[in-house]
Amino acid sequence: MKTDTPPTAAAGSAISPTVQTAAVPGTWDWEVDVVVIGAGATGLPAAIVAREAGASVIVVEAEKDIGGHAITSGGNVALGGGNQAQKKYGIEDSPDLVFRDLTDWSVVQPNGFPDYRYNDREVIRAFADHSAAACDWLVEHGVVFAEQVPDTRGGISVGNSAPREMHCCAMDWPLVQTGQPVHPSLATVFTTGNGLMRPLEASAKAVGVQILLEHRMTALHREAPGAGRVIGIQVNHHGTTLNIRARKGVIIGTGGHTGNVNFRRMFDPRLTEEYCGLGGMPWSNQDASGEIAAMAVGASLWGFFNQTGEFGIHLTKPGTIGNQYNYRGVRWLPGSPVFDRARASGIVVQDWQNVILVNMLGQRFYDETAGHFTGNTYNGIKDYTYGSYLNAANITYKANNWVNAAMAGIADGHNGGGPIWAVFDADAVQRSHWNPYPPEVDIDGGFFFSANTLADLAAKIIMQYQRVPMPPQNLEATVARYNTFVDTGIDSDFGKPSPAYKIARAPFYAAWATPVPHDCRAGLRINQHCQVVDLNGQVIHGLYCGGESAGGFSLHGLARAVCQGYIAGQHAAAEHVG
Ligand SMILES: Cc1cc2nc3c(=O)[nH]c(=O)nc-3n(C[C@H](O)[C@H](O)[C@H](O)COP(=O)(O)OP(=O)(O)OC[C@H]3O[C@@H](n4cnc5c(N)ncnc54)[C@H](O)[C@@H]3O)c2cc1C
Repeated sequence: MKTDTPPTAAAGSAISPTVQTAAVPGTWDWEVDVVVIGAGATGLPAAIVAREAGASVIVVEAEKDIGGHAITSGGNVALGGGNQAQKKYGIEDSPDLVFRDLTDWSVVQPNGFPDYRYNDREVIRAFADHSAAACDWLVEHGVVFAEQVPDTRGGISVGNSAPREMHCCAMDWPLVQTGQPVHPSLATVFTTGNGLMRPLEASAKAVGVQILLEHRMTALHREAPGAGRVIGIQVNHHGTTLNIRARKGVIIGTGGHTGNVNFRRMFDPRLTEEYCGLGGMPWSNQDASGEIAAMAVGASLWGFFNQTGEFGIHLTKPGTIGNQYNYRGVRWLPGSPVFDRARASGIVVQDWQNVILVNMLGQRFYDETAGHFTGNTYNGIKDYTYGSYLNAANITYKANNWVNAAMAGIADGHNGGGPIWAVFDADAVQRSHWNPYPPEVDIDGGFFFSANTLADLAAKIIMQYQRVPMPPQNLEATVARYNTFVDTGIDSDFGKPSPAYKIARAPFYAAWATPVPHDCRAGLRINQHCQVVDLNGQVIHGLYCGGESAGGFSLHGLARAVCQGYIAGQHAAAEHVG
């Protein structure tokens, strides 16, 4: 009987994600009011808010620098509800409208999956009530939003009734992707997560938040097994174990689970180890350590549908090919401080007519130009009526099924579809001005191959995730058949619109183009104060969570992380502990 390889370590990470329970220590190495785990979009706002409320605060961060996925992000922040910019530009929005939007059961995507139906109403109410304040708070703490009308750019599952996207300006901080600041002329035009996280880092330091880099939380301390308050954390710092006491609260802002293969397979068993692209990697990993540590002291998970439902961008088509970390919109360039881990920048594909996509066996599986799942945003549904079943009746069904087709597998009894390869020829390279050499492509890592014949190309594709050799005759037959589609202008297998280019001129290339796990929208159960809740529905006092490690909320990205950090920081600082 065939079984899937049982992975034990986080994809792409040398650190084991396993978090143990730990005995409460007799003595503590540090003692503060509030401990925040993770210096990302949840963690830094939580830390600043708690510090400004009078608490002493330590942030522990596993990586060498702050920022998490947030610093690699596009910096598009959907914090509406009547923020200053919405008021300035005359956009009608309110907490009630945000709440109504994000709980509207009738909004479905073109493939029929609902965006908001399974959101936890308590969690959304808290978000709706604090969104505008959190947005204005960012401005007060140095974040510069582009001077423009809030819009829809970058917004996924952010509500249909008002434009809510704000965009963080790059300013003059070096970008993590390039190591360089943008040209001064673009400082207030180019928008990025760097423009969110560097000002917050500066604010945190200015108010006296202590940030401990390369301190990885490995366990939570609770007064008794499954009972009492959470009173601190255990961390690993370069192999040394330290314990930090939190008098008032511990806030988990560890950012989710995409990099932990075993954890993510609880939601979708197909997501085996070959899905190693991981948006936000290699700057920071999402290894589920926050969720696992909280579960070890009794916490519950929540809102699983939001992770498995086929909407939003938790699984995406790659934006680049020929490299491992291939989430769209992110290119790691040689100047980046993490380029040694990224290894290649990838080839940007503007037009998928230039390639065919084949599975491990060298077979096409879908229209290469097709997209991935979508998410609702402002005016995403025409003739929208709140709560009306006609919203669903009015959509035009579109499968949006590229990701599913890519993960369908080769019928060999395994979970996981295996690698997907973009195959193209010398003419595609010339047409698209691609550079099929390092540092664009990762030859040493096994994410890019070339050969003078298609048969040799197939035979060369040997790498860790290619479970079976690609039969050379399959690839030859696939390309020959596809070339006839170019002659006729009709893809009679998968309906690619007017196949444009033959694959005929050597050398031939195979570039990694496997789907990318991205968002986490299921995680720990929290209440309206972002307090973590156990399997009996009881609050675990002293433990908070926000962002991608928290469940019950399908919204993409930064807004919910910032807002939940803002809420958690306030409540943790206000705890009165006897
Ligand atoms: C390329 C990219 C583009 C994006 N663009 C957008 C966008 O334009 N708009 C939008 O809304 N969203 C965007 N997102 C999503 C957004 O960045 C995330 O949803 C958001 O950053 C999540 O915040 P978080 O606090 O949960 O996690 P993060 O911001 O990832 O922070 C988690 C932090 O915790 C640290 N950590 C993890 N485990 C431990 C541990 N055990 N001990 C100590 N520290 C730990 C991590 O190293 C990390 O620094 C994008 C994401 C990516 C990857």
